[in-house]
Amino acid sequence: MHEVAITQSIIDICEETARHQGAMAVRGVTVEIGELSGVVPEAVEFCFEACSRGTLLEGATLAIRRIPGRGRCNACMEEFPMDSQTFTCPACGEFAPRRISGEELSVKEMEID
Ligand SMILES: [Zn+2]
Repeated sequence: MHEVAITQSIIDICEETARHQGAMAVRGVTVEIGELSGVVPEAVEFCFEACSRGTLLEGATLAIRRIPGRGRCNACMEEFPMDSQTFTCPACGEFAPRRISGEELSVKEMEID
């Protein structure tokens, strides 16, 4: 399950940032996960408690913001909602629309002590 590795790296990033700021503990973290990122938010939530044990993030609350997938057609410039099964433009049928959002995976906010 690669979400364990992803959760681990989220925690690493937060810990490093918190240390730099001289924090004693991290109270809360907000993470953005795009619907096209291939990361399952529920799995990250599930891993978070176990992965954060013994780190500055132990006991921190995890908030996950889901970013909907959106695409733009290279031919007709139409914008539309997109999931991982969208391979053509719904307006003109052009292949391989560009993904303009939904691939995010980043730490957005952190509350430290
Ligand atoms: Zn199109």
